[in-house]
Amino acid sequence: MIVMKFGGTSVANFEAITRTIFIIGGKLDQKPVVVVSALSKVTDLLYRISDAAASRNVSEMEELLFQLRKRHVDLASDLLEQSPMLKESAVAKVNEICDGLTSLVRAVCAVGELSDRNKAVIIANGEYLSSTIICYAMNSKGIRTNWIDARRMMITKGEYMKGEPVEKEILSRVPGIVEEAYKGMDAVITQGFIASTIDGEPTVLGRGGSDYSASLIGMAVDASRIEIWTDVDGVRTADPRKVNNTKYLEKISFEEAAEMAHFGAKVLHPLTIEPAVKKNIPIYVLNSMNPSGKGTAILRNELIEDGVKSVSFKENIKVINIFSTRMINTSGFLRRVFEIFSESRVSVDLISTSEANISVTVDASEKIDGVVSELSEFCDVIVDDDKAQVSVIGKNIVRLNGMLKKTFAPLKKCNVYMISQGASFVNISFVVDREELSEVVQDLHDHLFDNPEELADF
Ligand code: ASP
Ligand code: MG
Repeated sequence: MIVMKFGGTSVANFEAITRTIFIIGGKLDQKPVVVVSALSKVTDLLYRISDAAASRNVSEMEELLFQLRKRHVDLASDLLEQSPMLKESAVAKVNEICDGLTSLVRAVCAVGELSDRNKAVIIANGEYLSSTIICYAMNSKGIRTNWIDARRMMITKGEYMKGEPVEKEILSRVPGIVEEAYKGMDAVITQGFIASTIDGEPTVLGRGGSDYSASLIGMAVDASRIEIWTDVDGVRTADPRKVNNTKYLEKISFEEAAEMAHFGAKVLHPLTIEPAVKKNIPIYVLNSMNPSGKGTAILRNELIEDGVKSVSFKENIKVINIFSTRMINTSGFLRRVFEIFSESRVSVDLISTSEANISVTVDASEKIDGVVSELSEFCDVIVDDDKAQVSVIGKNIVRLNGMLKKTFAPLKKCNVYMISQGASFVNISFVVDREELSEVVQDLHDHLFDNPEELADF
C-alpha cells in the first residue's frame, strides 16, 4: 500500500484534478490510499465565511457561500460531463454538503457567536467537498474508488482547531477501515486535515495538516511510501521566492526535513516526518504539474551524506529577552520561565541562555502579552520586534570544521542578536533585523552553495 496526498494546488480545478487522477491511475498496482486537501484557497474562504458569520455580515457571508457552492458545483459538472448519472448524483451530494454548511453558518450568524467546535465543522467542508468530487471523478474514469470519512479513523484529543493525534486509536482503526473499504475496489480516498475525538467530536489538525494526516495514515497501514504531491519539483536549498540560484535536493534525511519544516521551509507540515520515522517509511515530495520529475526523497539518516542542505528562515519573529539576577546560582528558574510559556500556549523556537539572561524567539503571530506581564513580575523583559530568524541546516554541520566561520563570514555588516547551535548537530540558527533578511539569506546561500569544491573540504 502507498499513501498519495494531493495538496490544494494539485486539486485546484478541472485540469489539476484530471492530471491528479492520471497520476493515481498509474499506481493502482501499489494500492493507493489517496488523501486530499480542499481545493486551493477553499480553506481560506471557509475561514472568511466563519468570520463573516461571527461578525454578522450577512451580505458578505451569503456572497461567499454562493461562491463556494458555485465553484464546486461547476467543477463537479465539468469533471463528470461524460457521465450524466454520476454527474447528477455528485452535484446533488455537493449541494447537500453546501446546504448543511449554509444552515450552520446562518445559525452562527443569527447569534453572532462562533465556537471553536462550529468553526471546526465549517472548515472541514473544504475537504469533504474536494474528496467527494474527486471520488466521483475517479469512478467516472474507471478507477473503482471508495470514499472514507476521515473522522471515523483519525482520532485526536479535544482541541477543536488543532487536535493532537491519538496514535494508539489511529493505529487500531485505520488498517481495518481501509481494508474494508478496499474490498472490490481499485483505490480509496479520504480527507486530509479533518479528524474527530474518540467521542465523535469534530476536530481539525491545524493549518496545512493534510500532510500530517497522510503520514499518520501511512504509518497506520505500514505504507511502503508516502507521496506528498504539490506544485514544486521537490525540496530546494532555500525558498526560491526569496533566494536566487537555489538548488533542488534529490534526497534529505528525516531529521533534516523536520528541521527545515520547523525552521521556516514551507514544503511540509512540520509534524509530517515523525510518524514516517517511526516505521521508517520514505516520503517523496513530488510535483503534480511535472509528474515525471524525481522529486525529493526523505530517507533515513544513514542514506544521507553530511553537509549543508538548506538555508531556511522565518521572516517575522520576536525575540523575548528575559533578565534576572536571581537566575544566578539558582535552580528551577528556567522551569518557572518556561512554565509560563507553556501555560499560555506560546510556542518557543530558539533558546539561548547565559548566567543572568534567557533569550527566546517566537513567531510574530504568537500572542505574548500575558507571558510578558507574568514574567515581568520577577524579571526584566525586553521584546524586540521585527526580527527574522535564519537557520543553516544539514546533517552533522555542527561537527564540520569551519562551519561557524563559513556561516558568519558573509554577515559582515548586519547585527546578529542571538545565536543558537542545535544540539542535534543539524542546525545553526541566528537572528537578524527583518529588513536585512533578504540580503543575508542571499549572501549566505551564495556563500554556502556556490562553492561546492570548497564545501567538499570540510
Ligand atoms: N486545507 C487545509 C489548509 O488549507 C489543510 C491542508 O491543505 O493541508 O490548511
Ligand atoms: Mg500544504
